Amino acid sequence: MPDSSIQVIGGGLAGAEAAWQLARAGVRCNLFEMRPAKSTNAHQTALLAELVCSNSLKSDAENTASWLLKHELRRLDSLALRAAAEARVPGGHALTVDRERFAAFITAAIEDEPLIELRREEVRAIPRTGIVIVATGPLTSGALAADIANLTGSERLYFYDSISPIVDASTVNREIAFPASRYGKSLDGGADYLNCPFTRDEYYVFVEALLAAESAPAHIPEDQEIHEGRIPFFESCLPIEEIARRGPDTLRFGPMKPVGLTDPRTGRRPWAVVQLRQEDQRADSYNLVGFQNHMTFGAQKRVFSLIPGLENAVFLRFGQMHRNTYINGPELLNSTLQLKPDPRVFFAGQISGVEGYVESIATGLLAGRWAAALAAGEAPRPMPRTTALGSLCHYVSAADPRRYQPANVSFDLLPALDDAAHAKFRKDRKARHAEICRRAVAAMDEYLAVHV
Ligand SMILES: Cc1cc2nc3c(=O)[nH]c(=O)nc-3n(C[C@H](O)[C@H](O)[C@H](O)COP(=O)(O)OP(=O)(O)OC[C@H]3O[C@@H](n4cnc5c(N)ncnc54)[C@H](O)[C@@H]3O)c2cc1C
Repeated sequence: MPDSSIQVIGGGLAGAEAAWQLARAGVRCNLFEMRPAKSTNAHQTALLAELVCSNSLKSDAENTASWLLKHELRRLDSLALRAAAEARVPGGHALTVDRERFAAFITAAIEDEPLIELRREEVRAIPRTGIVIVATGPLTSGALAADIANLTGSERLYFYDSISPIVDASTVNREIAFPASRYGKSLDGGADYLNCPFTRDEYYVFVEALLAAESAPAHIPEDQEIHEGRIPFFESCLPIEEIARRGPDTLRFGPMKPVGLTDPRTGRRPWAVVQLRQEDQRADSYNLVGFQNHMTFGAQKRVFSLIPGLENAVFLRFGQMHRNTYINGPELLNSTLQLKPDPRVFFAGQISGVEGYVESIATGLLAGRWAAALAAGEAPRPMPRTTALGSLCHYVSAADPRRYQPANVSFDLLPALDDAAHAKFRKDRKARHAEICRRAVAAMDEYLAVHV
């Protein structure tokens, strides 16, 4: 593969956008896409930038966070946003597209671009020299994932998003489940959790049921190697049935540990607990902390109804473990998406730890521009922190690495308004968001005035 071009690996939303931005900057690149020779189970076509599920690029209603991100991408001449304008279909406030036309537009633009050489090959290892953009997405091929694990440390590469079950708060039996935080420690002095206490007997009956429960089948064949333990789970998000398999008491020394809690009904520490954490501000739903699993939905309903206090609970969502290959951005990336120990390597798209189509396009666009700067001997310049793009990269590079989870763009990622502005708009959420967007647009104007 060695030549002076930049190597972009993955011709999905992020990779196609990155290659396009490199070409706009006059920089040559090779864009590697393994389809159609080797496909993923989510992709259906050989087109670049295929939308694998919904056809929505989310809200385009002014002054939403999703609109702001798209607005910034349009200002930076995103190929994908151009394609979306061409392929738009009615979708209310959402920017929805004809997926075939959208991907065909991007594929044609890339194929017609003389500075991009599209190579339909699987890349099995990250090139060890030259500038590289890794944009192979949530379904990165196994060989490359193994090489990324080598380069970054396997404990910083995740293969799954794990989702805990959620119950309807009104169906939790409050005569059994009691509010408390371990050792009385909570953020606001109150009780952050509802605790479902087990007696000794209840606990072992529960563990036995867990061990006998049926697993959901792997969604895609590549997941089979993970199910069979050939690619290990990340230790901090092991499925509970996997923890139970390590020994009958492992759960009660792990996510079900009862330390620092006293059951008001008995005045004693329970043998084990399941903690329920408030899911939304209205407290009308709770998630089962640490209860990610890949049992079938039927098995979850049966086994979790053995949890004291959840006998009749209504589950709003069951636990799941989705294939999603991504790195721990805050440990590995700087705010210009470069690998800290090896800055010639950029990560973009879902594998960099963002979530969603537009966020993948956004990080692809930035990686392309920054890689072009690097090729020209310049230092890549971070986006202003107050923009949606800057905030997304800030999240990827500076969130808490211990609890890192891929994120969509949202106002939570953007910095709060200063005190005066916050006080002015305190009671009006819409006006506050409009002000955050106004500030972002102004920061982008300033950035573009200097750096176009
Ligand atoms: C099943 C599924 C459904 C999703 N649904 C949505 C949704 O509805 N809305 C939403 O906003 N987000 C969704 N996402 C999340 C995410 O936004 C998309 O996966 C998005 O396509 C990510 O963009 P990307 O460029 O990072 O990866 P992709 O678009 O997946 O592009 C990566 C490309 O790299 C190629 N590739 C992989 N390994 C190699 C290799 N070794 N060599 C060469 N090429 C390789 C792949 O074939 C692919 O074309 C979904 C994800 C999945 C897995």
